[in-house]
Amino acid sequence: MSDAVRHIALVPAAGSGSRFGAALPKQYTVLAGQPLLWHAVARLADHPSIDRVVVVLSRDDTRFAALELNGLRPIIDARHCGGATRAASVLAGLRSLAGEVGADDWILVHDAARPCLPAAVIDRLVGTLAGDAVGGIAALPVADTLKRADADTRIDATVPRNGLWAAQTPQMFRYGVLLDALEHADLDHVTDEAGAVEARGLAPRLVEGDPANLKVTYPRDLRLAAQLLVAMGDHS
Ligand code: C5P
Repeated sequence: MSDAVRHIALVPAAGSGSRFGAALPKQYTVLAGQPLLWHAVARLADHPSIDRVVVVLSRDDTRFAALELNGLRPIIDARHCGGATRAASVLAGLRSLAGEVGADDWILVHDAARPCLPAAVIDRLVGTLAGDAVGGIAALPVADTLKRADADTRIDATVPRNGLWAAQTPQMFRYGVLLDALEHADLDHVTDEAGAVEARGLAPRLVEGDPANLKVTYPRDLRLAAQLLVAMGDHS
């Protein structure tokens, strides 16, 4: 595989954010003066290894056009082709890139809801996976002891955590591999890109992520994310 392959970030941002419980879609919730989506896009656009950032929006999104992207590297473009699930949005984004990217180019899918992505995680993904035929994901070994709950919220079982990792994003795959995987996936049930790739019989690599790369899921996560941005030196 050629060294000239490109690294294209794909940010699915077409969710309605229903678990977040707010009227505004989660990706537009403001954190440290900018929407979560702005932070995710800015961190990707800031990284010298990233050649393009493609944002997948819902068809009726009117908010993205108002984001302040002028101060960022001009490699960002938005496509209004989001689907009913995250996987459908990613697949639509990949299809929209047909003819613009090669089968061996890398796609780094990153959640709009992860605003604190450290540059070192992108460094590790790009460095570790260079030359890999499939790809891999940012993830962290599970540190806590895991309990399975019963219907009464009592402990039903202790689950051995040996070998367990918690998946993060970016999830980085060859364009051809990821497109094939999602074309064959059950888009209503697959929860991350790696799951679709695994279902094709391939074994994505696990690359060390970072606890700072948290996914904002509940309102309480915003305070922690704001503190992390300050600690990381981002005061925007
Ligand atoms: O809701 P959740 O946190 O799992 O969403 C993860 C990412 O997938 C978010 O960036 C969200 O905007 C995106 N998404 C999407 N299309 C959907 C549902 C979620 O792009 N239909």
